[in-house]
Amino acid sequence: MHYILMDLEWNQPLSHLSAQYRRYGKQLMFDIIQIGAVKLDQNMRMLGSFNQFVQPGLYRKLHPRISRITGILQEDLYTAPGFEDAFRRFMAWCGDDFALITWGCDDSTVFTQNLNYYLNDETQMPPVYDLQRLFGAQTGSGSNRAGLSNAMKHYGISFSAEHPFHCAVDDAYYTALVMQRMQEPEKVLEYRQTPKELVPVKKTKDEQSDDLRFTSIMTAINSKPAQQPNCPVCGKKLTVPEGYAPFRDGVWRALADCPDHGLIFVDLFLGKTLDGKSRVKRRASLSEQQSKAYVKTKHLQWAQKVAAFKETAV
Ligand SMILES: [Zn+2]
Repeated sequence: MHYILMDLEWNQPLSHLSAQYRRYGKQLMFDIIQIGAVKLDQNMRMLGSFNQFVQPGLYRKLHPRISRITGILQEDLYTAPGFEDAFRRFMAWCGDDFALITWGCDDSTVFTQNLNYYLNDETQMPPVYDLQRLFGAQTGSGSNRAGLSNAMKHYGISFSAEHPFHCAVDDAYYTALVMQRMQEPEKVLEYRQTPKELVPVKKTKDEQSDDLRFTSIMTAINSKPAQQPNCPVCGKKLTVPEGYAPFRDGVWRALADCPDHGLIFVDLFLGKTLDGKSRVKRRASLSEQQSKAYVKTKHLQWAQKVAAFKETAV
């Protein structure tokens, strides 16, 4: 297995009042503009590096602050591929057997959001592990989040001008140097990250959550509340034509259509009630996108997803 140390740079909207941000900011807060990575083998030998500019698809104009910090210029991005293409190139470079590692959890959070925004939900984010937490555990700094430069100081790694900070591939390079010097670096695999929600999930009238009386998803799936969910807007009873398929970590999703409100996502996942009991939760939310083509594609995709799942379940 290879260890891939990854670092990203991202652009931010010029203004939070901009039309793009107001329309899409909930789904995408930052646009990735550079993916940098270094590959180590199991003996911590450096095998190579990956450096890819990414053309931002939403916040296209580079924020002056980002340009200043990263040294990236607008013209660096003109000929760069978009996120989807860049992501596929990156995955191809990563190979078949790898663990993705970052310093801290911001990168995986932004990465996940870009993935969901640009590739929709058919592509899963590979698991990401946090070297910063292993460093914290090994040096006794515990949950204090040490900066990468502190970790470098700790191991006597000096900064070199050929590898400037805040260039994705160089930050990944320094992270690799830190990992090389750690004892039992493979223990990083004990620190899997859960990407944070970048935007607090607001309950709107377009979304509704209920506790079901089940304690396992498998028993809940065939129940009436799962098979006949309600439209979160008008409460009308709906059906789930394709059924449920695993969607992302621990969440099962089905699609439903309200004749008045359109495409609804119905999610089942394990949660806790207020008194701490574990219960299956049902969350129905109105899709933000409702164009005919989108809804049709979504249903086709879902039929395939459910079929693929049934095949593996046999
Ligand atoms: Zn409705």
